[in-house]
Amino acid sequence: MRVVLWWAGSAKAAARAVLFLSLSLAIAAAAIPLASQLWSVAWPVLSIAIDAGHGGIDPGAIGPQGLKEKMVTLDVARRVQSLLRAAGEQAFLTRTDDARLDTSQARDLRARVRLANDRQVDILVSIHCNSFRSPAAKGPRTYYQPGSQDGQRLAKCIQDHLRAAVGYGAKEPTPENHLITRESKMTAVIVELAYISNHDEEKLLRTPAFRKKLAEAVVQGILEYRDSIPLN
Ligand SMILES: [Zn+2]
Repeated sequence: MRVVLWWAGSAKAAARAVLFLSLSLAIAAAAIPLASQLWSVAWPVLSIAIDAGHGGIDPGAIGPQGLKEKMVTLDVARRVQSLLRAAGEQAFLTRTDDARLDTSQARDLRARVRLANDRQVDILVSIHCNSFRSPAAKGPRTYYQPGSQDGQRLAKCIQDHLRAAVGYGAKEPTPENHLITRESKMTAVIVELAYISNHDEEKLLRTPAFRKKLAEAVVQGILEYRDSIPLN
């Protein structure tokens, strides 16, 4: 008799527990889409095109020790893409291997712009290495299309983080007219990571540790820009 009562009591408790659990699951199921909606409003996911400058028969600038710009830009672009994805953003590369996108430099640049425009990304970050006739020139620089306030803001965010990462460099980004920032429909900037024409920076650019540091700085700049986008 005691055993039967015990079972009866337990069955009731179990039924209550099942009901409670079902209700909790139902509430959670209803809450998850709402929470993710609120999350995406409060934390907009950006789609970002990362453009590794040059490629294929176009090596870009070549350092005094022979380092090719196209190799540095592809490596850093790949790092930037994976860091952005890890941060929950959508990022794609305009080129994923050592290839030029079209037969001439101008057509190649237009192909990159077209890729970003067709994908309707929010921002385009074109990655390069600087080169100058004076071997003393050094430090990261970023460029935006004159008149683009968003471009200036994004370039400033990236410039600040690159400057902090290497410990020197221009304080402000530079407005300059370039095909890639002019013809793209979204906020677009050119990032010149360092001067490949500078002996010390070429040496640094050869090291994965330095390229990783630069990629992290570019990503921090992009995320700071993302966080500054006003909610609407
Ligand atoms: Zn370049």
